[in-house]
Amino acid sequence: MKSKDIKKCRLCFSNNLKLIINFGSVPIGNNLLRNEKLSLKAKKYPLLVYQCSECEHFQLGYEVSKSILYATNYTYLSGIGKSFHNHLSKYADWSIKNCSLKKGDKVLDIGSNDGTCLSYFKKKKMNVIGIDPAKLPSKLANNKGIKTYNEFFDNKSARKIKSIHGEIDYITSHNVLAHVSNLNEVMKNIFFLLKKDGFFCFEVGYFLKVMENNYFDTIYHEHLDYHHAKPLIIFLQRIGFSIVEISTNKVQGGSLRILCKKDFKKKLFYKANYFLQKENESMINNEVLVKKWVSEIKTSMNAINLIIDKSNKEKKIICGYGAPTKASLIIKTLDLYDKLSYIVEDNPLKINRYMPRSKIKILDRKTLQKKHPDIVIVFAWNFFSDIIKMLKKDKLKNLTVLVPLPKLKMYRI
Ligand SMILES: [Zn+2]
Repeated sequence: MKSKDIKKCRLCFSNNLKLIINFGSVPIGNNLLRNEKLSLKAKKYPLLVYQCSECEHFQLGYEVSKSILYATNYTYLSGIGKSFHNHLSKYADWSIKNCSLKKGDKVLDIGSNDGTCLSYFKKKKMNVIGIDPAKLPSKLANNKGIKTYNEFFDNKSARKIKSIHGEIDYITSHNVLAHVSNLNEVMKNIFFLLKKDGFFCFEVGYFLKVMENNYFDTIYHEHLDYHHAKPLIIFLQRIGFSIVEISTNKVQGGSLRILCKKDFKKKLFYKANYFLQKENESMINNEVLVKKWVSEIKTSMNAINLIIDKSNKEKKIICGYGAPTKASLIIKTLDLYDKLSYIVEDNPLKINRYMPRSKIKILDRKTLQKKHPDIVIVFAWNFFSDIIKMLKKDKLKNLTVLVPLPKLKMYRI
């Protein structure tokens, strides 16, 4: 597949789309290269969000080719953040209870990463199967004894999984479906693989929370869709699912959890219907909400820029904490390319690489103790509580910690 403009709604196929926000050309956030010269030349691609006028779904206006997006530099590991670990552990308990899963049941995780989620089902003696296109995390999962297919989840792999493992009792997926190029095909394959009355539960970023809380850094090339429940439910029912329950949680700045059942009834259960009504009340003034969100982004970025420019004039050393994919858009929006001395990371796979389109090198966290910066900007702000604990433990002195989102916060350590 080549990079291309997206001209139709990915959920209802309407071509009636309107532009919501345009971030211009932005480098791919996970393209962390080891070579400074190559990093400076990293390619940029359009980053813009559209909304479907028919079903109200939000999505990107440009899709970067999978082979470019998920090349060898893909370094995300779900095992790294402690909060996410806890979330997945609780999620497994919730699934087992709500879907009456038992010992020996088959659990499939689409986009299973390093197998963190599946490990909690494995502990309860279930048969776990992972599938993920990223090479390194798949290898780590297999090394831990979690059977993981290192490939994209498509017609071919779905048929292969069914022929090897048979029908699946429970299918799960976390923060993956917004990355999927052909969502319709993926959902049909999930439906095909599930046993009758089997459950499919997934979590995706909740765009309503993004807008309400003035985030914007969940928008990046890998995320093709920005979901809220209403358009998704119409889409899932068309595939054939009944919708059992919809809920939200605080993961990644606000996520939507949807539990579906393959019972061929296309029903909307009471709890799901109640959620939809509530969402509809919050989004009734859709256009006002979108406009407010766009103007808030500009205001908060200006406020951060004032602090950074002042510190720059005072020759203060500014560095970043965390190099998640979203850091690329914050760096571009704040124009930090020449203002950051370096970024520190906890993920060993990212260390000694460069932020795309820049000379900003990613270094080990211990660098903070050696180099004593004046200001740290936390790009991985959703793990902020873990990070501040670590910084305090490191006994760093006279350090200003700046958390840019969701609302600018400053701390002195
Ligand atoms: Zn649509």
